Amino acid sequence: MPVSGLGPYDDQNIFAKILRGEIPSRRVFEDQWAVAFHDINPQAPVHVLVIPRGKFVSLADFATGASEAEIAGFWRAVASVAKQLGLEAPGYRVLANMGPDSHQDVPHFHVHIFGGRALGPMLVAK
Ligand code: 5GP
Repeated sequence: MPVSGLGPYDDQNIFAKILRGEIPSRRVFEDQWAVAFHDINPQAPVHVLVIPRGKFVSLADFATGASEAEIAGFWRAVASVAKQLGLEAPGYRVLANMGPDSHQDVPHFHVHIFGGRALGPMLVAK
């Protein structure tokens, strides 16, 4: 069972459909462990999402349920994607929303890679 309070994995979530190729995405990377594609609503000049191929609803679910190989493969993919996008020298930000307070919208674990400009403070003060 997922551990994050988001419920069981839903095969109809939008990223599951993107993984299966049922809806289009602008893929920038894929390997055995992960797929990366441009966010449909970019919040920075570069805004790419990286998702594991496995069915995990959240970071908590991934950390609990994924194999060591899946976890290593996923995080290596995140860094590879950022490098491939030319972000390693200027720098970038990686963000994962997890659960309701974070406003996680899509219940398939993903990280956002932001870059292409100086990104400012980590969170907007409220
Ligand atoms: P979350 O809030 O779950 O961390 O982020 C979900 C992200 O998925 C959002 O940044 C949103 O713009 C993006 N997104 C939602 N639907 C689609 C889609 O159909 N295609 C792509 N490429 N991105 C999507």
